[in-house]
Amino acid sequence: MTAQLNPRGDVAVLIPAAGAGVRLGPGGPKALRLLGDEPLLVHAVRRVAAAPSVRTIVVAAPPAEVAAVRQLLAPVAAVTVVAGGVERQESVALALAAVPAGPEIILVHDAARALAPPELFESVAAAVRSGRPAVIPVLPVVDTVKEVDADGVVLGTVDRSALRAVQTPQGFRRAVLAAAHAGAAGSLTDDAGLVEKQGIPVTCVQGHEHALKITRPFDLAVATLLLAS
Ligand code: C5P
Repeated sequence: MTAQLNPRGDVAVLIPAAGAGVRLGPGGPKALRLLGDEPLLVHAVRRVAAAPSVRTIVVAAPPAEVAAVRQLLAPVAAVTVVAGGVERQESVALALAAVPAGPEIILVHDAARALAPPELFESVAAAVRSGRPAVIPVLPVVDTVKEVDADGVVLGTVDRSALRAVQTPQGFRRAVLAAAHAGAAGSLTDDAGLVEKQGIPVTCVQGHEHALKITRPFDLAVATLLLAS
């Protein structure tokens, strides 16, 4: 059954899903790889569509797969699909350009974090709604972290109490994200990084373990167990 999005919602979610997924091993684009018996992107969109504040979803698909992705997602939720770019940042900018007037909160979510639960979208959106210009979900770093040189020799031990592992969805006031992308120079792996460069404060909220990033075959195995549990 196609999920109905909330026409009075104030949130648009952008899902960059145009990456090749080389680190996952041979196969098609990562977002279209199977987790259980459905593609990662289907799992991600289903969870986004279940978040009550979401009014609009825009997916950036691999350019050669736009029609196939439209067909794949039609039974899941009402989704706009655009062709993604060469870099993730470009895919996000192209998706942002396709958001109609209305939603003033924009969440950017990687298709690779296919099991991020609807509550996480709501908690990030709520923090933006409460007045924060930019919000990221984070988890504490549990491993000891070392800084090393090019030969793998340790330079020092980093104080992990001040470190956080960052997830998606990352949330922004619409104007803040638009300005960050308009002023973007160079490529960063997350959107909050662009906003930081503009001197705008970025606030952390509690992340979720199910929002793990499915990058390597091991992550896919973990996600498969989570899905079954
Ligand atoms: O490559 P990485 O795992 O960092 O990609 C994170 C997310 O960005 C993935 O969901 C991937 O599909 C997406 N992406 C994209 N366009 C690109 C590269 C990555 O939408 N050119």
